[in-house]
Amino acid sequence: MVEMTGVHKWYGDAHVLRGVDLVVQQGTVTVMLGPSGSGKSTALRCINQLEEIGAGSIRVEGELMGYREGTKGGSPALYRLHPRQIATQRARVGMVFQRFNLFPHMTALGNVMEAPVQVLGKGKSEARERAVEMLSRVGLADRLDHYPAQLSGGQQQRVAIARALAMDPDIMLFDEPTSALDPELVGEVLGVMRDLASSGMTMIVVTHEIGFAREVADQVVFMADGVIVEHGPVAQVIDAPTEQRTKDFLAHVL
Ligand code: ADP
Ligand code: MG
Repeated sequence: MVEMTGVHKWYGDAHVLRGVDLVVQQGTVTVMLGPSGSGKSTALRCINQLEEIGAGSIRVEGELMGYREGTKGGSPALYRLHPRQIATQRARVGMVFQRFNLFPHMTALGNVMEAPVQVLGKGKSEARERAVEMLSRVGLADRLDHYPAQLSGGQQQRVAIARALAMDPDIMLFDEPTSALDPELVGEVLGVMRDLASSGMTMIVVTHEIGFAREVADQVVFMADGVIVEHGPVAQVIDAPTEQRTKDFLAHVL
């Protein structure tokens, strides 16, 4: 479903991703761990094309992200896609951030309807119907007309998840979705993510919630200094890591 091959990312002189190789199978959950500054957010932002990569390639469902393959003088060459085509590719990748980034002047329903109407060109009534369905799915059927300021952090994050789902994405990326929440609100968001995983959604989740990883992850990847240092099932990466950097990190979070 997702294939990152030799992905590099520079911010000016800072070499932030240094050859990331990652394969995510359809319908699986990948939990990404790693110290602050190791490049986890950047990796997700590259998959979602919020950032342009410096080298390597990213494919989603076999389709190259951001480029079209062609030829130049008889040799294979890559051509950058038009921003409109990139927007179409991006619509297939849902993303949920640490900060919920809801529109403060719109209700929960308005927030969830916005992109399907504006980006996908859906009619209002169809978008509304789907928004109600998605908000019900995250347990907020009784909060449709509430504004973000009237919702708890956990509820706001669930609206953000519903908003991403309303675009009918092929894959969902979560960047530390519970780290800005009060501890008592973490469970309700992880519960929604657990349900989503059981429904067969392909997910990449950056989180330090090791309990969630144990329950839900098909694959755990440990990232440090811009590379994936170790990857495999929970029993391998969390319970029997072989790399010293993984051991050191786990000693801090466990
Ligand atoms: P993580 O999510 O693992 O904490 P990030 O992907 O946010 O790591 O950051 C990786 C590195 O890239 C850090 O050193 C960070 O300072 C740097 N970085 C992230 N975003 C930018 C940016 N927009 N401009 C310059 N440097 C950045
Ligand atoms: Mg981050």
